[in-house]
Amino acid sequence: MIRIAFSGSFKLVPIVSKCHKNFNRFYSANTHFDIIIVGGGLIGSTLACTLGKNSRLADKKILLLEAGKKKEFKLSQHYSNAVSSLNPGTYKLLNDIGVWSHINSVRFATVKGLQIWESNSEAMINFRSDNAQEDVAYIVENNVTLYGVYQELAKLDNVTVINEALISEFNLNSQKENNEVTLKNGPIYTCNLLLGCDGWKSQVRQKMGFHCVNWDYERMGVVATLELEEECDNSIAWQRFLPYGPIALLPLNSKHSSLVWSTSPQHAKDLLSMTDQDFVDILNGSLSGSPKRNYIVEEGTKAFDQVLNFLQVSSRKNRQFPPKIGKCQENSRAAFPLGFGHCTNYVMKGVALLGDAAHRVHPLAGQGVNLGFGDIACLNSILGEASYSGSNLGSILHLKEYESQRQRHNIPMMLAIEGLHRLYGTEFPPVVLLRSLGVQAFNALEPLKGFLRSQASL
Ligand SMILES: Cc1cc2nc3c(=O)[nH]c(=O)nc-3n(C[C@H](O)[C@H](O)[C@H](O)COP(=O)(O)OP(=O)(O)OC[C@H]3O[C@@H](n4cnc5c(N)ncnc54)[C@H](O)[C@@H]3O)c2cc1C
Repeated sequence: MIRIAFSGSFKLVPIVSKCHKNFNRFYSANTHFDIIIVGGGLIGSTLACTLGKNSRLADKKILLLEAGKKKEFKLSQHYSNAVSSLNPGTYKLLNDIGVWSHINSVRFATVKGLQIWESNSEAMINFRSDNAQEDVAYIVENNVTLYGVYQELAKLDNVTVINEALISEFNLNSQKENNEVTLKNGPIYTCNLLLGCDGWKSQVRQKMGFHCVNWDYERMGVVATLELEEECDNSIAWQRFLPYGPIALLPLNSKHSSLVWSTSPQHAKDLLSMTDQDFVDILNGSLSGSPKRNYIVEEGTKAFDQVLNFLQVSSRKNRQFPPKIGKCQENSRAAFPLGFGHCTNYVMKGVALLGDAAHRVHPLAGQGVNLGFGDIACLNSILGEASYSGSNLGSILHLKEYESQRQRHNIPMMLAIEGLHRLYGTEFPPVVLLRSLGVQAFNALEPLKGFLRSQASL
């Protein structure tokens, strides 16, 4: 059984004493673990579950410290506004650790195709797959994924979870064998390996003291759950680039989609304060309005289309129109700040970072959490090998291997996402023309689209 340190039955007891009282049922104040994971979001919880299930780590004790309260999952007929587009690589990881069967028993949507277009020209990219082996992505509510992870965590004896864990101090001592984590209510835990999964404001990262490149996009991601005007197949993810950022519609079922609309802070504020009906009208207008006309762009893209037609390839094949939105689910609108973050080092002796603690990207490509799930798969395999060969889990040698494998994958992906953000952030006609010609050529060439899809699936 998983050892959950707190139960809901202590509702009126102050958090600090509640923590102390229950945790001492299992461990004395100073306890050693092989691995401590700080942060139990999507990445930290899945990491605890993945490492806990790794047969090569079966004799290792793992502690997961999460600052937030334990969340009870209750399935509602209304979809949550916090969803993630999970790529096939993430599906494989979740399936391998038994989590996908729980997601499958609750709900998710399969994305079979993608259409990306913009508001400054007619250029667009689309693809569709009817082959189950080539599903583009899966849309899952974050609380459903967490529910699945917690169902599997509950089966593990070697993983302890403490919720409402308030950390007062980290002592990352590269000269000593162990790191120390002190909770505000007293207990000190030591470990060979500390894994920071505490999100983009990571305290673990700050304590490591490495250089980190960070910036705020001065954009907000407005999310909402939408009801379509008419029921339809709804297996396409739609994304239209507007001058302040893209609007993405992610399918939930035949009648509902989830929205992520990246826009300026002022516009986000306006979008949140207007009535549901005004919001829907503006959204429909932004999705289906005609592109802004510019002579150079129009003539340039038309001429290029004629060249492509002459070569018997078309840049406009299968153009479709997004579904019309009928309603916005009540109280489902919210906004989140968007930013970029890249830590030049993910590891030091006895410490490693995963997920947003190490890297943070714009959601325009739906890759943020997928990069973190990729970190988990990589670290799990490296730690399994290290344990099998009798090495110390905190050894810098294999942690460096994790860092270089992940940076080889993450950095090109982050640069590509950043490049797209900047490329679409301008309305300067020569740039609009160049990107439109690129998109036309790309849409006409199937092998290039296949390559893009395979890179985004890892
Ligand atoms: C609008 C929007 C849409 C997105 N859509 C997608 C998408 O479609 N696909 C995709 O791949 N990604 C998407 N992302 C990105 C994705 O949400 C993040 O990459 C992901 O949530 C990061 O997970 P994480 O577990 O690393 O960090 P977090 O989700 O930030 O979790 C960190 C956890 O650590 C805990 N914590 C923090 N500090 C401490 C501490 N000191 N002690 C203990 N616990 C601590 C927090 O309570 C939290 O639970 C989107 C992001 C946004 C903003």
